[in-house]
Amino acid sequence: MEEVIAADVAANLASVRSRIEAAARAAGRPSGEVALVAVSKTHPAAGVRAALACGQRLFGENRVQEALEKYPDLRLEFPDLKLHLIGPLQTNKIREAVAHFDVIETVDRPRLAEALAREMERCGRRPTCLIEVNTGEEPQKAGAAPAAADAFIADCRDRLGLPVAGLMCIPPAEDEPALHFALLREIARRNGLAVLSMGMSADYEIAIRFGATHVRVGTAVFGSRGGPVQA
Ligand SMILES: *Cc1c(COP(=O)(O)O)cnc(C)c1O
Repeated sequence: MEEVIAADVAANLASVRSRIEAAARAAGRPSGEVALVAVSKTHPAAGVRAALACGQRLFGENRVQEALEKYPDLRLEFPDLKLHLIGPLQTNKIREAVAHFDVIETVDRPRLAEALAREMERCGRRPTCLIEVNTGEEPQKAGAAPAAADAFIADCRDRLGLPVAGLMCIPPAEDEPALHFALLREIARRNGLAVLSMGMSADYEIAIRFGATHVRVGTAVFGSRGGPVQA
């Protein structure tokens, strides 16, 4: 695991924040409308602590198990810390996911939605849900197909009563992301959903131009995964 240099995380975070502000301003949006989800997957708790010291409170992890190893102690210390699940959720991890995350961004299939609804009913905790849309229709990627998204959203909200706040997507690496962000925005608009989680280190400024309310940024905050922290 790489050495975490708190000063680097602080400098990276300041830079990402100012770029978010500039992108929001350029899009004619108040910068308070765009939340930074700092993606800490593969990075040690020390990196998260460095970000917490800079006032960052919103974090994303893509594996339930890794989040459980890293976050419970930090949460006790920082009760206002919020954790987003941004990776695929297996049905055998639902209980832990509902217990430990504040937002589940990857509701991607009916069986998962049904199991989430049952678990929320059982335990009384109701993390906010985002529906993942496979905007690139990539066979290997999770998410509802764009053509099936309206029906899936309606099913999650109306039949299952899930607290659906919005949508998320991960565009194909080789595509122009703007097309995917525009598509996600349109699906959210026609379904009356306010939250748009889109944009990563390479393209979060473009996502902000297309209406992102949450950008999920890992590398640009914590450095490359498995390598030294980079500016
Ligand atoms: C890892 C990850 C990110 C952050 O990616 P970076 O390119 O490091 O910013 C965002 N979203 C998801 C779903 C991820 O898995």
